[in-house]
Amino acid sequence: MAMNAHDFFSFLEQHIPNNLQEDWDNSGVQVVGELNEISKVAVFLEPTQKNIIDALAFGADCLISHHPLSMKAQFLSRKNSYTDIVRLLMKKGAWLYAAHTSLDSLPNGNAFWIGDACKLTDRKVLEPSEKENFVRFSFVKNHLSDEINEQIDISPFVHSVMCCENICHVFCFCEKEQEAQEFIMKILPNCAISYTKVAYPMYTAGLGEYGKLPRKYQREEFLSLLQNIFISQEKKIQYKICGKLPEQIETVAYCLGSGSDFAPLAFGKGADVFLTGDVKYHAAVACMENEQCIIDMGHFELEEEMMRRFTKELAAQVACEVRFFSGENPFSYSI
Ligand SMILES: [Zn+2]
Repeated sequence: MAMNAHDFFSFLEQHIPNNLQEDWDNSGVQVVGELNEISKVAVFLEPTQKNIIDALAFGADCLISHHPLSMKAQFLSRKNSYTDIVRLLMKKGAWLYAAHTSLDSLPNGNAFWIGDACKLTDRKVLEPSEKENFVRFSFVKNHLSDEINEQIDISPFVHSVMCCENICHVFCFCEKEQEAQEFIMKILPNCAISYTKVAYPMYTAGLGEYGKLPRKYQREEFLSLLQNIFISQEKKIQYKICGKLPEQIETVAYCLGSGSDFAPLAFGKGADVFLTGDVKYHAAVACMENEQCIIDMGHFELEEEMMRRFTKELAAQVACEVRFFSGENPFSYSI
């Protein structure tokens, strides 16, 4: 069971469009691979050395993490974990790909697993994104000399480049459509270029969600619901309750990861409770003051669950062996 690398990444790009990512993000290919056939895929939350080593020992040709290896390019001139990870991957020729905010804001994607698990109704995106369109230029790679590569690297409107086998895709921001087109034509004269305007999706993409439970839940009942929504029931999750949980809960809002900045938005939408990770002290004080409630369910816990679910869905859709690698929670608790 294997897939041609080009088909595999085209599938990923089609299902989790890179143009859904936030402007500050670096979703997509992190380390370009040499392997042209993908038969084993490893999925994890964090591209830690341990996860990379375990995934390569499994024989993964492509490794998919949620968090990017780095938000921006780094030199390989220092001995640090970034260099070590790049070396490990390059030795094997394996690919490292990140589905970060592109996955977070994918409509009906795995970032909305709490809504599925709690059977929320009237579901709406908490912060709809207003993204520019992207345009994609595709051409045959043997035209990509070092000189052309350099020009692409310094171009202000090129967002990312993805080369696989002999095809190269250059993604540009749509607001620069005309300039981008002229630039590509200029650096690649006499080259057959196919040009695709990546249409803005008809659905609403964005971060977080809010909706109603099928009925009103009593406080304790709601807390036990939250314990039972995880696929893995190996151990109880430790939640931090910020402010006071109302007696009855009906409208629930959530945003995985560090979403506490979205709390005011959630309460503005009528949420009885807001679920997220990484809640800071002052956000918790604001909850007390305003008689609101945020439950910090843990950045790690919420997003590991998302990637676990992502793995199951991916395995059902691609002709590869797909395995989830559970990471280590960087937080431990002591009394
Ligand atoms: Zn995260």
